[in-house]
Amino acid sequence: MQKRTQEVYDSLSRPLKDLRISVTDQCNFRCSYCMPAEIFGPDFQFLKQDELLSFDEITRLARQFAKLGVEKIRITGGEPLLRKELHLLIAELKKIDGIKDIALTTNGVFLVKQAEKLKEAGLDRINVSLDAIEDRVFRKMNGRNVPTAPVLKGIDRAQEAGLDIKVNMVVKKGVNESQIIPMARHFKGSGVILRFIEFMDVGNTNGWNFQSVVTKKEIVEKIDEVFSLEPADANYFGEVADRFRYTDGDGEVGVISSVSDSFCSSCTRARLSADGKLFTCLFAQRGEDLRSVVRSQMEDAELFDYLISLWKDRDDRYSDERTEETVKAKQNGPKIEMSYIGG
Ligand code: SAM
Ligand code: SF4
Ligand code: SF4
Repeated sequence: MQKRTQEVYDSLSRPLKDLRISVTDQCNFRCSYCMPAEIFGPDFQFLKQDELLSFDEITRLARQFAKLGVEKIRITGGEPLLRKELHLLIAELKKIDGIKDIALTTNGVFLVKQAEKLKEAGLDRINVSLDAIEDRVFRKMNGRNVPTAPVLKGIDRAQEAGLDIKVNMVVKKGVNESQIIPMARHFKGSGVILRFIEFMDVGNTNGWNFQSVVTKKEIVEKIDEVFSLEPADANYFGEVADRFRYTDGDGEVGVISSVSDSFCSSCTRARLSADGKLFTCLFAQRGEDLRSVVRSQMEDAELFDYLISLWKDRDDRYSDERTEETVKAKQNGPKIEMSYIGG
């Protein structure tokens, strides 16, 4: 029986601590910054059922990753709550030695139905993506004319179920900047931490450019004009969001500044796509096909050594090196889409 565990560091001395697992590439939304409806239309070829990793295959891989030091797992997509019986996967992942935290990123629409089941299965935390509090803006941004009500109800239900909730808002210049203050006002004092995400150049379909980014500095200044903020320390090494506390004691907000103030030097994340490709960076041009490996005769000990070698070779630091030139150079090359890898 294989018992080995070994912390592994990449070529820039970063340990492997987090595994993000995408469980589907499909989604009920068409957010313009992620799955523009013109491209992800009725003819778009999503992955077929037999191309997806099964729950057993995901669990087997996660077990090996835990032996390499992974402590946190995040389930994502596409929209992960579209994957049937997702709670069964959570329950299996929860049993893995070394996994201390299981989180989910979702657009929240199906939480009303699933929050309790997910909590019972062992889910610890949920990040709900919500880009506006005003219906008019939200309906437009999600590309499917869905109002905020089902998402807000989902957040309430998840809170009632005892799940720790954060809300993520991607800010796109000229599209939902007007929602920064209304969103801050809505969640201030609610126990839900609101985090703003700078719009990123993931994939080739969302028409990104530097001018469409609202930076961390701009976001914090805007909120500080209305509700006074002060910086707060990170909760742990590698925390992706910079924290800012309301000085009146009414909670905090976070900002994920992947563009204006990148954080590659503390990036401890690996990403597994729904069809089993391993990406060591959101901006990687190719992934390692782990599905073929788990469907081959390879034993766990050999799989473990293979994963060590993949992480040891890692030298990704795309955001640290991002300039107009690097963006242009990568524009026409292969790039994975956010809806495929899951953020
Ligand atoms: N469907 C789920 C959701 O929206 O939460 C999970 C998958 S989604 C790809 C994961 C996260 O990536 C969401 O918070 C979404 O807002 C974020 N995201 C997608 N495209 C992005 C982009 N271009 N820049 C920054 N964040 C993005
Ligand atoms: Fe779907 Fe999430 Fe992408 Fe929006 S951000 S299209 S909800 S996968
Ligand atoms: Fe990590 Fe790549 Fe993002 Fe840098 S650009 S923080 S290495 S995922």
